[in-house]
Amino acid sequence: MTGMLDPKRESWMTAAETAAVMDALSADGGDARFVGGAVRNALLRRPVSDVDIATPLAPDAVIARLKQAGLDVVPTGLAHGTVTAIANGKPFEITTLRRDVTTDGRHATVAFTTDWKEDAARRDFTINAMSADRDGRVFDYFGGAADLAAGRVRFVGDAATRIAEDYLRILRLFRFHAWYGQGEIDRDALAAAAAARAGLATLSGERVQKEMLRLLAAERPVPVLRVMAASGILFDILPGELAIARLERLAAIDADSFFTPDPILRLAALLPDAAVAREIAERWRLSGADRARLVDLCGATEKIVSYLSIKEVRKLLYRLGTGPFRDRVFLRWAADPKETNAIQWRALLAVADAWVAPEFPLTGRDVMIAGVPEGPLVGKILAEVEEWWVDSDFTDDEFSLAERLKAVVQATAY
Ligand code: ATP
Ligand code: MG
Repeated sequence: MTGMLDPKRESWMTAAETAAVMDALSADGGDARFVGGAVRNALLRRPVSDVDIATPLAPDAVIARLKQAGLDVVPTGLAHGTVTAIANGKPFEITTLRRDVTTDGRHATVAFTTDWKEDAARRDFTINAMSADRDGRVFDYFGGAADLAAGRVRFVGDAATRIAEDYLRILRLFRFHAWYGQGEIDRDALAAAAAARAGLATLSGERVQKEMLRLLAAERPVPVLRVMAASGILFDILPGELAIARLERLAAIDADSFFTPDPILRLAALLPDAAVAREIAERWRLSGADRARLVDLCGATEKIVSYLSIKEVRKLLYRLGTGPFRDRVFLRWAADPKETNAIQWRALLAVADAWVAPEFPLTGRDVMIAGVPEGPLVGKILAEVEEWWVDSDFTDDEFSLAERLKAVVQATAY
């Protein structure tokens, strides 16, 4: 045992939901500990979002105990000994202690164990291999706490061996270094990652997506991306000309203005055009919404400058909607060499945040009342008047709208 967490400071340790799950697992001499990211982040005093739990109990015993305690159980990864307990709407991943028996670079077959150290040994990095009990006692079998304090992201065991077991660990090395590393990446780990880079091709798009989006969400992803580029790894993941400087600027803007890093926006800042965006979306199996947003943004051609007039801003907001407008502002801002324009860019975002789209007052009925028979012409005329209305800065003068409608009808209808 090394170190302590103070349960009084760590509200996630004592929350009612956590207690319900831990009570169920530890009744009748059962044992359970917090593992992985929760322990790591708590030691760093960073926020803890997911609470993962490990236990020597076999999966069927875990399920039985949770059900007995009235908790919902979802068998999310039974083959690997993982079930998800839902307490008061909050999910907890509970994994039976295990060791990897065979590995092929992507999948592992596992055997369950009751040895905590064996379970820690199959985890990737020393900083991710610690566990803690409910009283806050930290179990650190591989020097994770010291590595965490020093900003060292180090494999548990031999880097090359651990990477050959699961090539995703190449990307995890960069992801965790971006979040928790200080200074240079561990030399052995980097050399092993570069030597094994061909293995990346065997990974599923979803797994690559998850790691890369988390890497991009780090406060400063660019130093790590530069190392990935220098070792050729980045090219295996994101081929083509990348706009690294634009992403660097976007990350600096986020840091200066306290914006929450948005990984899809950052990916868009990095990619050169819509064609590459489409290819990456496909490869990484992005969700439909992420894919549409990325491709739209990478192909955007609207002229957006820091000195847009309020009328031009409203027009763009009406056409694009708040989200796509904001995204475009960020990309243009990140490409603007003049830093003192930040005030203007922020003002554009403020207008977007306050924007409530006005409703176009006319409908197809009004066009028909003006004498146009039902049919495709109605929509065409309506669109024509709407365009004029947008150009008028959304006039609410009913008379001039009616006049305009009449004029368009006269000019278009037979
Ligand atoms: P985050 O807060 O970013 O989710 P995390 O530590 O919870 O960080 P996950 O990817 O959610 O990271 O994984 C949970 C834990 O499972 C890790 O801390 C690590 O101990 C272990 N783990 C996950 N993926 C691997 C892997 N590919 N190889 C070895 N261990 C892994
Ligand atoms: Mg996690």
